[in-house]
Amino acid sequence: MNSPYLHDLRLLLQRWRIEHTQVADEASAANLRRMRWLGPVVVGINALHALVFLVLTLQAAPGDPHTRWKLGLFLIHTGMGLALLLCTWGAYRLRHQQRSLSGRWLELVSAATILGFAIAIVCVDQWITPSITPFLMASLGVSLALYLRPLPATCLYVAAYLGYYVALGWTQADPEVLLSNRMNGITACIMGWALSALLWRKHVTIAMQRRQLEKAHSDLQDKQRELERLTRQDGLTGLFNRNTFVELSRSELLRAQRQGSATTILLLDLDHFKRVNDTWGHPAGDAVLRQVATLAAQTVRSTDLVGRLGGEEFIVLLPHTSEEAGRKIAEKLRQRLEATRVVWEGIHIPVTASFGVASAPAAAKRDFDSLYTDADKALYLAKQRGRNRVV
Ligand code: GH3
Ligand code: MG
Ligand code: MG
Repeated sequence: MNSPYLHDLRLLLQRWRIEHTQVADEASAANLRRMRWLGPVVVGINALHALVFLVLTLQAAPGDPHTRWKLGLFLIHTGMGLALLLCTWGAYRLRHQQRSLSGRWLELVSAATILGFAIAIVCVDQWITPSITPFLMASLGVSLALYLRPLPATCLYVAAYLGYYVALGWTQADPEVLLSNRMNGITACIMGWALSALLWRKHVTIAMQRRQLEKAHSDLQDKQRELERLTRQDGLTGLFNRNTFVELSRSELLRAQRQGSATTILLLDLDHFKRVNDTWGHPAGDAVLRQVATLAAQTVRSTDLVGRLGGEEFIVLLPHTSEEAGRKIAEKLRQRLEATRVVWEGIHIPVTASFGVASAPAAAKRDFDSLYTDADKALYLAKQRGRNRVV
C-alpha cells in the first residue's frame, strides 16, 4: 500500500525514533536523578506501612481472620522497601556515568518492582476489600516519576496487566468483583501508559528545543566572533584593515611618546600591479597580495603592526625603531620581495614594491596622519625614481 497517510506515519515514526535515541541518555540521567531523591521517599512510606502492619499483626487477637492480611501487607511493604532501597543505591552508584545502559535497565527494573509489589498489595487487599487503588496509584506514579521510552513502557504495562489479571484470580473469589477489578485494571494500565507516552513526548520536545536553542546560541557566538574578526581584519590577507591599523597606530604613537622612543612606518606599494591583474587575471593578483602579506608579516617582529591600507598598498609600523633601522628593514623586505616568485597555477609571477619610510624621532611629538603623509610623499618619490626602491 502506498497511501500518503502511511508514508507520513512512517516518516513521523522515523523522526521519533531518531529523536528518542538522541535524548535517551538525557532522559536516563533525569530518571536516575529522580530515583535518587524519590527512592528514599517511597522507601520511607513503605517503612511506615510495614511498621503499622507489624504492630497490628503483633496486636492481633488469636483467631483474628484479618491477621493474614496484616501480615501479608507487612511482608510486602518490607520487601518493596528493601527492593527500592537496592534500586536507589544503584542510582547513586551510576550517578557519574554519562551513557549508561545499566541506568536504563535500572529505571525499568524499578518501575517493574513498584508495579509488581502494587499487584501483590492489591491481591492481599482482596481478602478484605475489592479496592484496587494501590495498583491505580502505582500505574500513574510510575509514569509520572520516570521518563520511559514508549516501547519499553508498552511492554512494562502489558506485562503488569497480565500479572495483575492472573494474580487477582488467586485472592478474589467473587466473579463479579473479579471481572470489575480486571476491567478497572485495564483502565489503570492504559491511563498509566498514556500518561507515560505523553510525558515522554513532552520531554523529547523540550530536549530537542533546548538543543536547537543551544546550537543557535553557539552559531550566533561564532558569527559574532567572525564579524568582530572581519571588522578588524582585511578579508583577503588577514592583516589589520585600515581602520584597525590607524587606531592601533595612534595608541602606539602615544605610548612611544610617553616612553620617549622612536617609531617608524613603512608604506609599500606594489610596482605595476595592474599588469599582474591584466596579464594573469584578478585571482592571480589576489594570490600575489596574500603572498606579499605573509612575507611582510614574517619579515618584521611579531610586535610590529602590519596592515593593508587597500588595493596593493601595505603599511608597517615599527615601534622602538629609528629611521635608519626602519630603512634597513624596508630594504630587507624589498630584497625578499624581489627574490620571491609568487607561484600561481604553475605560473611564476615576479613582484617588486616601492617603499616610503617616515619616522618620529624619540623626542618628537608626531601624530599618525603627518607621519603617514610623509611616508606617502617618500613612496611617491620612490615610484618617480624608478620603483623597486626605498626612499
Ligand atoms: P604603480 O607601480 O604605479 O603602483 O602601478 P600599479 O599598477 O601598481 O598601480 P595602480 O594604482 O594603477 O593599480 C593598482 C591595481 O591594484 C589596480 C587594481 O585593479 C588592483 N587591485 C586593487 N585591489 C585589488 C585586489 O584586492 N585584488 C586584486 N587582484 N587587485 C587589486
Ligand atoms: Mg602599485
Ligand atoms: Mg597603489
